[in-house]
Amino acid sequence: MKAVLDHVGIAVGDLELATDFYKNALGLEVEAPEEVSSQQVRTHMIPVGQAALELLEPTAPDSPIARFVDKRGPGLHHVTLRVEDIRAALAQLKERGVRLIDAEPRPGAEGALVAFIHPSAAHGVLIELSQRPEPTDLRPVRITLGGFTLTSVNDGPLRLDGGAMFGVVPRVLWERRLRPDDRNRIPLAMRPLIVEADWGRMLIDCGAGDKMTPRQVDIYGLNPGLDGVLDSIGLTTESFDIALPTHLHFDHFGGATRRNESGALVPRFPRASHLIRRAEWEDATHPHDRNRASYLQDDFAPLLPAGVVVFFEDDHAVRPGVRVVRTGGHTGQHQIVYLESGGRTAVFTADLIPTTAHIDDAWLMGYDLFPMETLAFKKRFIRDAIDGEFLIFFEHDPVVAAGYIREKDGRRYVEPVVG
Ligand SMILES: [Zn+2]
Ligand SMILES: [Zn+2]
Repeated sequence: MKAVLDHVGIAVGDLELATDFYKNALGLEVEAPEEVSSQQVRTHMIPVGQAALELLEPTAPDSPIARFVDKRGPGLHHVTLRVEDIRAALAQLKERGVRLIDAEPRPGAEGALVAFIHPSAAHGVLIELSQRPEPTDLRPVRITLGGFTLTSVNDGPLRLDGGAMFGVVPRVLWERRLRPDDRNRIPLAMRPLIVEADWGRMLIDCGAGDKMTPRQVDIYGLNPGLDGVLDSIGLTTESFDIALPTHLHFDHFGGATRRNESGALVPRFPRASHLIRRAEWEDATHPHDRNRASYLQDDFAPLLPAGVVVFFEDDHAVRPGVRVVRTGGHTGQHQIVYLESGGRTAVFTADLIPTTAHIDDAWLMGYDLFPMETLAFKKRFIRDAIDGEFLIFFEHDPVVAAGYIREKDGRRYVEPVVG
């Protein structure tokens, strides 16, 4: 098994003395405490690089931590190792006859799954195994905008290199907003948007789908979920009249094709007209060394012979109230989608503002082919979005599907919208 140090738990007798040492003497940052009522303990995390120290403060005199301190005094309580698959790790330990406290994983703090190994097996140290939760919440978010019903759905998690997602922004700045895993990948999501109006039902982008190889699934941390999410709201892949990609990268439109029973590639949304900007199609079908890994021909090439593609040339309203606007920057023809109804504006910003961590002008992706073009467009766009109170959909944000960009005292933040 592959394990990395997550944190070291320290049982504390006197919290004030302990924080005085760790905070004031060592000068470390102590995070806001979290109460774990089932264990009658309050935890205070102190980040130290990739790992953390965890001060454990008992909240009741007969709690496990209080008994530990009574018996042995304050000090090292446990070491937590993070594993990718806790059930596989436990199976491996059981097979070797290692004495366990927990034969099965149980829920720990912040949605993690945890299990303890008995100290007698680990040479006197209590070892906790922990598997981080998938931050991706698959619940759809439904918002009414004038005459439109907008439903943000989710094709599941995506993990991309943190450095590549933030370009020239140093890791010391971005890692506070999106914490990288031990492979330097940050947790992201793929959130297509369903637009329902009197003219029909449209799907903007559609996630990566399920054609990826096991190696790609591993590298990008995929776990395709769109079919299940559609099912949960009474829809199927047959339910769409229109499919509209922002661009043809695999994490945006890879799910547009699937393999049928005989292994042939077919449109996944068979009833939908696929509205595609012709110049993006040209770029995608003639990739170069810099964009080849993102433009996977199997994702879109089969759509043309299937007769489901409708090309268009320029910015225009593809349906009443739905307008595509070319941003360039990320790819030469990357576009965003304006949704306007009842005097309100929502914008699906795709890779222009992929997450809420990208709302500052210069926080651009290293993936962008023409970053200065992204910057110029984004500067103008975000000004408009703040002033015009646009509802912004963040396609790759692991937590926030949509929200308003606000500005106060020169600082930007996102006010999330809960559907
Ligand atoms: Zn992209
Ligand atoms: Zn993307």
